[in-house]
Amino acid sequence: MARILKSGMNADTQLSINENVQQTVRGIIADVRARGDEALREYSMKFDGWNPEQFRLSPEQIEALVAQVPADQLASIRFSLDQVRTFSQAQRASIADVEIETIPGVTLGHKVLPVNSVACYVPGGRYPMIASAIMSVATARVAGVQRVVAVTPPKDGAPYPATVATMHLAGADEIYIMGGVQALAALALGTGSMAPVDMLVGPGNAYVAEAKRQLFGQVGIDLLAGPTETLVIADESVDAEMVATDLLGQAEHGTNSPSVLLTTSETLAHEVTAEIERQLRVLATGVVAAQAWREYGQIILAEDDNEMVRIADEIASEHVQVLTRDPDYFLSRMTNYGSLFLGPETNVAYGDKTIGTNHILPTGRAARYTGGLWVGKFLKTVTYQRATREASVVIGRHCSVICGVEGFAGHQRQADLRVERYGAAVPAG
Ligand code: NAD
Repeated sequence: MARILKSGMNADTQLSINENVQQTVRGIIADVRARGDEALREYSMKFDGWNPEQFRLSPEQIEALVAQVPADQLASIRFSLDQVRTFSQAQRASIADVEIETIPGVTLGHKVLPVNSVACYVPGGRYPMIASAIMSVATARVAGVQRVVAVTPPKDGAPYPATVATMHLAGADEIYIMGGVQALAALALGTGSMAPVDMLVGPGNAYVAEAKRQLFGQVGIDLLAGPTETLVIADESVDAEMVATDLLGQAEHGTNSPSVLLTTSETLAHEVTAEIERQLRVLATGVVAAQAWREYGQIILAEDDNEMVRIADEIASEHVQVLTRDPDYFLSRMTNYGSLFLGPETNVAYGDKTIGTNHILPTGRAARYTGGLWVGKFLKTVTYQRATREASVVIGRHCSVICGVEGFAGHQRQADLRVERYGAAVPAG
């Protein structure tokens, strides 16, 4: 039986906190729906102190902001963009159209089509998350989306040059500086100044995640990618410094970011506890990480690898780092996670920024039913069918029976008309 060595709040506790968030979000969306641009501007002032002439950046403004970004930063942004595009292109190539003849004369097919217009939210309240622009905008472009809008809050009262440069290099058609619920509502519903999009994607804080949940239906969404979480699975083959670094590397995201250590080694658990306290004293973002660790951090001691798989699947964490003797044991057995980081040579920061897998991943146990953002989330699988006259009669006779059982007289007439018109030459059977 597993033992809890350090307990903390979990995703279920967060859900109850979210009731306040739900109410706030509902009010802002209703207001933007009723008053459009006027409401957008008021909430932008209220939450971000931001009241620009235009929320949308002009080509000249974009050019001037890109020019402010140092060459070495642009080079790393381009490198990361290349990695994400390469992986996304391979994933796109794995999705094929289908057309088959199911019975003689009946042809069924599906086509894979991109969504026409998408807004990519790039978070920027606490940190300007330029990597999120790489993950969403570049992936939408690989999928073939025609209109790709990128949106992010201001940073200290102005557009953040590196975020705008990344959106631009990733291929955004329109860039807006506005944040939070009001931005998503404006883009989903449309306002006097902006045309609505078909789909909202991207990560964000609890307000952003809740806004996507409430706007779903009006528009499509990718998934619920709220406050980040990480799970580190470790045994005695790894040292405490590596484990503590990887736990705090995600705890710094926000004061409500859970980091969990799941281990079979009690010695490692105690060493990690001490090492975390040491690192918190020197980490520049230590204040945020310390609060996240104290309130949400957990340490769970398991009996063996098999129990660790069971517990990890129950937690269904967004990120799972496997720092054990045999990481592939977990790759072949685990079923619930956003992304797996196998072995100490890679880590969540690589996935978050550069290595090429997408960092927009399911949180709050959504990994039980979805993976993260990928090119497939921007694609619709739509179907079509055709039939020869002979095949139409075969299908029509069975269809008519089912319509009759259900009481659908109009449907039945559709089938019967074909059987009457095309049936003369086709024997019953
Ligand atoms: P953000 O851009 O998500 O949110 C900032 C906006 O929140 C502001 O513009 C403001 O409009 C709104 N806001 C703030 N307080 C509010 C309030 N009281 N009421 C209504 N609206 C309010 O930026 P952030 O806050 O830094 O959060 C980024 C989040 O994204 C973090 O929680 C991080 O963990 C998460 N994230 C998740 C993933 C993922 O894939 N799951 C990836 C990257 C980042």
